[in-house]
Amino acid sequence: MSLPRAPVSPRRGAAAASSVARVRNFSCPHCRHVVYFDATSCVNCATAVAFDPGARAIVRASSGSPCANARIAGCNWVGRAPGALCESCAYTRTRPADGDVAGLAAFALVEAAKRRLLFELIELGLPLRRFSDGPGGLGFDLLSSAYEPVTTGHQDGIVTVDLAEAEPSYRERMRVQLGEPYRTLLGHLRHEVGHWYETVLVAEGSPQQEACRRIFGDERADYQAALDRHYAHGAPRDWRERFVSAYASMHPWEDWAETFAHYLHINDALRTAAAWGVRVDGPAAGLAEQQPLQSDPPDADGDISELLEAWIPLTLALNAINRSMGVDDLYPFVLGPAVQRKLTFVDQLARGVAPGA
Ligand SMILES: [Zn+2]
Ligand SMILES: [Zn+2]
Ligand SMILES: [Zn+2]
Repeated sequence: MSLPRAPVSPRRGAAAASSVARVRNFSCPHCRHVVYFDATSCVNCATAVAFDPGARAIVRASSGSPCANARIAGCNWVGRAPGALCESCAYTRTRPADGDVAGLAAFALVEAAKRRLLFELIELGLPLRRFSDGPGGLGFDLLSSAYEPVTTGHQDGIVTVDLAEAEPSYRERMRVQLGEPYRTLLGHLRHEVGHWYETVLVAEGSPQQEACRRIFGDERADYQAALDRHYAHGAPRDWRERFVSAYASMHPWEDWAETFAHYLHINDALRTAAAWGVRVDGPAAGLAEQQPLQSDPPDADGDISELLEAWIPLTLALNAINRSMGVDDLYPFVLGPAVQRKLTFVDQLARGVAPGA
């Protein structure tokens, strides 16, 4: 287990962030065998375990009270009080009814992805405010389109997820239909929470908003017209030079949300690589500007240029390993200079650093 480290750079909510241990590899409290973040028992000694978000540690399940969703959603987090929901489940405003067997199975999968999301948001020290704390707070409506039309999206702090997305065959069909290289529950959540963070980090009328418009375009552009155009004609031919995904080219809001999702992907995966000591000390063939291919993921908060320097070679190596297993690339994206500038802007706002500083 790595030692707790305080972030090097100032962040918004730095007080909270500095008290957050940077633990990302966990062990069984009984036998020390490695266990994953979402474990409910140790594969080696069968001790029942739970994740304690306060301590950011895997603990004996018997040492605290389980989340009230432990049974219904398979939640492995410790509850905030006896009989209460955990820190992650408490962000859910609407869930399927107790008798909805299919809906509850999907709900459990979305909640698992949401715990991963919350784990990172807390670690990054990003501002968090729950819907139950007042208007505009973050909340999740997890709804089944088997009963009513549901559109996955974000409005006024509430993220709606169509539980059909938890069904792998549906999700894969949509992925192929929309020509997307990557479609996961976690990816959906990171994108939608990105919309909320734009409202939190880019205040109306602020200098940040001006800067944001220069980088992502003017978000006052007609959204419905952009949506219609995107689905009628697709992305512009040169989208790869300017956007992280084809969908990002649709409207400045979607560009921000896609970029924000990648900011979370990159931070999460790099921190995990650092915690596990994954390095690339690679083949002589490298990147044009960097010979040979090397990655030493930073163990402390680096700025985005440091992160990207570690990230790009790491993804090349991990994509090669995935191909060895006959599965899709771990990170099927190319981060060109324009996208890197967008990531830099998001990183500065997320850290509470004035853009351009
Ligand atoms: Zn064990
Ligand atoms: Zn829970
Ligand atoms: Zn969106």
